[in-house]
Amino acid sequence: MTNRPVRVVMPQAELYREAETAFVTATTYWPFLEPMMVWLPDPQGYARLMAELWRGGRAFVIVEHDVVIDAAKLHELLSCPEPWCGFPYLQVPDPNSEPVLGLGFTKFERKALEVLPDMPERLDGAPWQNVHYITSALHYEAGLTQHRHEPPVRNLKAEEG
Ligand SMILES: [Zn+2]
Repeated sequence: MTNRPVRVVMPQAELYREAETAFVTATTYWPFLEPMMVWLPDPQGYARLMAELWRGGRAFVIVEHDVVIDAAKLHELLSCPEPWCGFPYLQVPDPNSEPVLGLGFTKFERKALEVLPDMPERLDGAPWQNVHYITSALHYEAGLTQHRHEPPVRNLKAEEG
């Protein structure tokens, strides 16, 4: 864990009240966090935000607008020494489907940012649907594997169907 405040960022293109409330509660619990909710209505907003966070060079956590987190899970991610970690979640309404590691609740340590200095250029102009693919593909190319934490978190979008 870094000594500097860690940005915990919720990019929002839709409002999921339960996820937003959980985010505020979880991030208020720990004093060393810098929570940010960012409204991104345009299709390239997510890529732009990721590029800005990358250039900032500080560890950060992404919590997507429909993912329900809690303080314990957030602390677990921040305490983990792995540079790139996340909790899986269902991406489709079928409860029998397998939870997958998306970008929905992901921590990037400085080390992960430093290994991939060209990430902002690679994200440039990408629509939000491609942001997870681009970030994970570049990590895998660099030989990094996303560390998986359990159990899965809830994804309200998937629960809606
Ligand atoms: Zn981890």
